Amino acid sequence: GPAPESAKEALAWIEAKGGMAGPFVNGKWGSLRADIESRNPATGERLAGLTKCTAAEVDAAVKAARKAQPGWWKAGAHARARILYAIARGMQKQSRLLAVIETLDNGKPIRESRDIDVPLAIRHFYHHAGLAQLLESERPGMVPHGVCGQIIPWNFPLLMLAWKIAPALAAGNTVVLKPAEYTSLSAMVFAEICAEAGVPPGVVNIVTGDGETGAALVAAEVDKIAFTGSTEVGRRIREATAGRGIPLTLELGGKSPYIVFDDADLDSAVEGLVDAIWFNQGQVCCAGSRLLVQEGVAERFYDKLTTRMDRLRVGDPLDKCIDVGAVVDPVQLRAITEMVDANTEGEVRRANVPMPANGCYYPPTLITGLSTSSPLMQEEIFGPVLVSTTFRTPDEAVELANNTRYGLAATLWSENVNLALGVAPRLKAGVVWVNGTNMFDAAAPFGGIRESGFGREGGWEGLGAYLRPDRRPSRLKPVAP
Ligand code: NAD
Repeated sequence: GPAPESAKEALAWIEAKGGMAGPFVNGKWGSLRADIESRNPATGERLAGLTKCTAAEVDAAVKAARKAQPGWWKAGAHARARILYAIARGMQKQSRLLAVIETLDNGKPIRESRDIDVPLAIRHFYHHAGLAQLLESERPGMVPHGVCGQIIPWNFPLLMLAWKIAPALAAGNTVVLKPAEYTSLSAMVFAEICAEAGVPPGVVNIVTGDGETGAALVAAEVDKIAFTGSTEVGRRIREATAGRGIPLTLELGGKSPYIVFDDADLDSAVEGLVDAIWFNQGQVCCAGSRLLVQEGVAERFYDKLTTRMDRLRVGDPLDKCIDVGAVVDPVQLRAITEMVDANTEGEVRRANVPMPANGCYYPPTLITGLSTSSPLMQEEIFGPVLVSTTFRTPDEAVELANNTRYGLAATLWSENVNLALGVAPRLKAGVVWVNGTNMFDAAAPFGGIRESGFGREGGWEGLGAYLRPDRRPSRLKPVAP
């Protein structure tokens, strides 16, 4: 059918590029080829053809970044801050285009891309413009690594790009970033914004492609690698860089616990869960995907939760009233379906809601009564599927919560401040939210422990990952023996 009104501008933008997207290197578009197809997961329609950059194209991007780096660093903190501000303002001007492109490409509800992804990404650039100006006084003697290779996943394409590029540039590095093959289009809009904001050629380079292009970037002559994605690929990248000694940060998967104690405000805890597991169709690294409920309130809580599930609206991501959109791709949809279908335990409850006939949709699902060793309790599903079990005591809650190889986030709900503050530090996770969930800010470092990776993004800690001590000789005189 005809494109909806809200999508016209975005589709026209893609059309103006000849329906193609590809590398942005040294301030210019590189070779555009339809090696990969980018599709709208809600409709299956083709959005654009994407260049799968070769190792030679990746090397050329790294060379451009290498050439631009000394000038970008020597321009000084204030010059960099001015450009980061200009990027933030450019994104603000293009916020509607960015939100619609993100929703078309990824399938996430427009309300989320408009109110969460895009504003948080913009805030990241404003925040790092401010940090850049403080660097000389707050971090004297620290210098950039040089050229950073950055690889990001498809679940928050623009936001993950912002988390990578803003701190790298603030610290005086130049970057070569590879977006995920399913969702490269918002990075193309971003490249245009950079050119208009006066980012010098070679400072921001984008290479499109799949895992092979990513592997070529890891193998290239870069001075630092930052990766967000699956634990499996993270492990491969760690192996590939081990012998070279270049700094590496990894933001990987999770199976984050969501603990509801019997004295919790149950209605708020239910609303929190909607955000924890049905936000972005559950394709969130820190999704509260493992619900642990105290026995005394379990039945009442599950009742409230299933009532709420039946009120979720699943459908066209461009519709402003939609709560749950499409999952990113048929491959991901199949993976979720196969994982859930292989399960033989517990009770499966799907939201009793109208589902679209076509497109990559999966119904919001709750599975209760699972044993802790069940694959669904241990493995990341990365879809709108919540798994649950009950506990008796706070000690048992902590034990269950920590019974995972991951450690990205944890959420707990209780009206008892002593209980909450007693339990929170015992949870093995990079972040613990109390009576709330999914709270992010550019000033707050985010990241995991254990198999969720290492390194932080956001705040001074995040910026620190893009700096190293200067190698110039110390001004201090050696002390005579
Ligand atoms: P993925 O690991 O398959 O892909 C991530 C990126 O790596 C993509 O750009 C991909 O093209 C690239 N890639 C694939 N193989 C590669 C290789 N051998 N070498 C270099 N690059 C390669 O992950 P995904 O399926 O796109 O994303 C989902 C995963 O990301 C989930 O496990 C999720 O938990 C995780 N994630 C983590 C965070 C976090 O902050 N911790 C945030 C978002 C997503």
